[in-house]
Amino acid sequence: MKRDPRALEAALVRLEWQELKRTRSTVQSFTEPSGRVVTMEAAIGRPLIDFSSNDYLALSRHPGVAAAMAASAEHWGAGSGASHLVTGHGAEHARLEEELAEFTGRERALLFSTGYMANLAVVTSLAGRGEWVLLDRLSHASLIDAGLLSGARFSRYPHADAAAAERALAKESARVAVVATDGVFSMDGDVAPVAALARASTAHRAWLVVDDAHGLGVLGNGGRGCLELLGLSADEVPVLVGTLGKAFGSFGAFVAGTSDLIEFLIQKARPYIYTTALPQPVAAATRASLRVAQRETWRRERVMALTERFRQSATQLGVPLGASTTPIQPVIVGSSGAALRAQQRLMDAGFWVVAIRPPTVPRGSARLRVTLSAAHTEAQVDSLVETLARVCARAAAAPAEALA
Ligand code: PMP
Repeated sequence: MKRDPRALEAALVRLEWQELKRTRSTVQSFTEPSGRVVTMEAAIGRPLIDFSSNDYLALSRHPGVAAAMAASAEHWGAGSGASHLVTGHGAEHARLEEELAEFTGRERALLFSTGYMANLAVVTSLAGRGEWVLLDRLSHASLIDAGLLSGARFSRYPHADAAAAERALAKESARVAVVATDGVFSMDGDVAPVAALARASTAHRAWLVVDDAHGLGVLGNGGRGCLELLGLSADEVPVLVGTLGKAFGSFGAFVAGTSDLIEFLIQKARPYIYTTALPQPVAAATRASLRVAQRETWRRERVMALTERFRQSATQLGVPLGASTTPIQPVIVGSSGAALRAQQRLMDAGFWVVAIRPPTVPRGSARLRVTLSAAHTEAQVDSLVETLARVCARAAAAPAEALA
């Protein structure tokens, strides 16, 4: 795009016409300690129940986690001052890395400032020009961007189709360096066919990268994510990416694997090397939340029980759900306009459920992305389902509008 203010304006107008313009809503305050009920800007003017955050275990506002952050800030200050390889690597980072390695049952873990950067780091370090990266078609944007940035040829197999991935691997066996997938798909909530991908990747000596941003903390008896749920070992899935801003309620991400893998990333991964280390108070908060998540198993049980309750009553009332059994429960609406209208109707009824539109999801599959948290009450879930049923029935009665 050439430097032309009108070009920017025209692009923005086009997005608006296409009903694809993204907007931000500002949270003004939390009206209850758990943070599930929020007030937004004056235009809305009344509390909304948040059914769209990724705070599955309700740890982001846990008093112990916030206190750990505050105490660490008193001691260490707000910023780390430099990258990990200069002077930014502190005792809290080091301890958290050890604890994450232990939690995931791997030799070492390496902290990153965000999951986006962790994914860029692993894929660009393990694959390059002349090689191939295979991705699930619905992989998170950060994996897709990682594939692009790596300079490798990247190819996407149909969603959750491990047989297609295996065929692609067999065809380009010598060249596929990395197979990468979300563990739990962020916009669909289903669990990837990791066991089959692990068999195929092992057979063709490709690195399997599982980004379990939405599974860690939530799935498996010990909250160790989709690999625990599926009974898969560190050998079968050599590269595990986890994020800390979702179930663990703080911020940041990590990669866990063998000592050599982590050392290799420290040497090679540009999104690790060339950026400021995340603040130590953030690492301290994560250490506290990791302890709470492991000790208070009721959080995991509760979010899963609420998910089941949501699924059962939504199915009974005819709300169209997908196959997900995780706390990510998308309600596919169709067009972007229909999703925006549904979002507004839910907001009018006191619920904050965000419409997700292309390009985040494929065209024609705009949706309301409902997420459950351990802090929701049964009454809140029931009342959301009743409202969704009304909103979906209204959209179905106006199919032309829904498909417009
Ligand atoms: N991977 C997946 C599957 C995600 O959903 C997200 C966040 N939406 C990320 C990676 C990026 O993590 P972060 O927000 O820490 O950058």
